[in-house]
Amino acid sequence: MEELKKAIRDVPDFPKPGIVFKDITPLLADGKLYAKTVNALRDRYIGKKIDVVAGIEARGFIFASGLAYALGAGLVIIRKPRKLPYKTFSQTYSLEYGTDTIEIHQDAVKPGQNVLVIDDVLATGGTVSAAAELLKKNFRGNIVEVAFIIELDFLKGREKLQGLPIHSLIHF
Ligand code: AMP
Repeated sequence: MEELKKAIRDVPDFPKPGIVFKDITPLLADGKLYAKTVNALRDRYIGKKIDVVAGIEARGFIFASGLAYALGAGLVIIRKPRKLPYKTFSQTYSLEYGTDTIEIHQDAVKPGQNVLVIDDVLATGGTVSAAAELLKKNFRGNIVEVAFIIELDFLKGREKLQGLPIHSLIHF
């Protein structure tokens, strides 16, 4: 995990002043490290009967797709508004200023399916709690866990996700 941690680059003041952006592109560009990351998640979920891995746009897709393939599970995509072509369910959530919305196809999860939710970074927890709400409200599936590559502990996003099992590979 230390090796993975070292491959994450801090970019200060991106996308706005005061934010230190955790840039995962150096990790992705190293084949061994990208495989280690996906394999660490595969090893955790291999026996857990995951039916679908749900990735959150956009960087969640990078890990959700590799993991779904490694687990032999399906891949579900949770996207920004107006990107999905078929009928959707949507969930709006608040940001520091204003709101944001995420969407999912209405046939994305079947009753009884075990769903693993993936995003790259757990920051304030707003996005992933909206994703969990979107899934719980509209489908009769079971959220097995929500998993992240990186958790920013000081933002206490975990507190927003009470009642949901959470797993993060790396903590800052
Ligand atoms: P959250 O505040 O947990 O809703 O985070 C929203 C999204 O923004 C997550 O999906 C992350 O991909 C991204 N994000 C938030 N903060 C950072 C950060 N410091 N570095 C990189 N990505 C971030």
